Amino acid sequence: MRTAIYPGSFDPFTNGHLDVVQRAARLFDRVIVAVAKSDGKHPLFTQEERKVFIQQSTAKLSNVEADVFDGLLVNYVQKHSAQAVIRGLRAVSDFEFEFQMALMNRKLNDSFETIFMMPKDTYTFLSSRIVKEIARLGGDVSTFVPVQVQAALTLKLGGAKA
Ligand code: ADP
Repeated sequence: MRTAIYPGSFDPFTNGHLDVVQRAARLFDRVIVAVAKSDGKHPLFTQEERKVFIQQSTAKLSNVEADVFDGLLVNYVQKHSAQAVIRGLRAVSDFEFEFQMALMNRKLNDSFETIFMMPKDTYTFLSSRIVKEIARLGGDVSTFVPVQVQAALTLKLGGAKA
């Protein structure tokens, strides 16, 4: 049983995240999308709301599940005896931070690998932050996020109809 953990804030889950999950689900027996508390980032959605969006958006992927976690990622990975952590790479700008995190995690625990996956090119410009900004300004985010997320953004921020 090969398990991968895909950790992140997912505030909210976008089609870019979904693209990475779909790719990881083809490579691993089990993929756990793990929603970090991320209090320091003052998330728009609660940790539980973010988890439910992922459950709804990945319902058709039988080997994908969503969970919440707090504290050190390496401890969470160990708890699930996972072989890999998945992270998405969009552009060079992601690289430096991701590289540092991956090597630090390896220092903390050398029992798993960090695997970077690139999304479909049409999602390389997509981020949760930009989606929230567009929704806040009343723009249409329907091609950027799953339908449940679009509805929730409309409820929370107003703007374009779901
Ligand atoms: P963080 O965990 O840094 O708070 P996010 O929750 O936004 O970041 O994203 C979780 C992971 O998904 C990160 O590895 C991030 O680089 C990746 N990611 C975010 N948006 C996309 C996208 N559009 N395509 C591919 N990967 C992405």
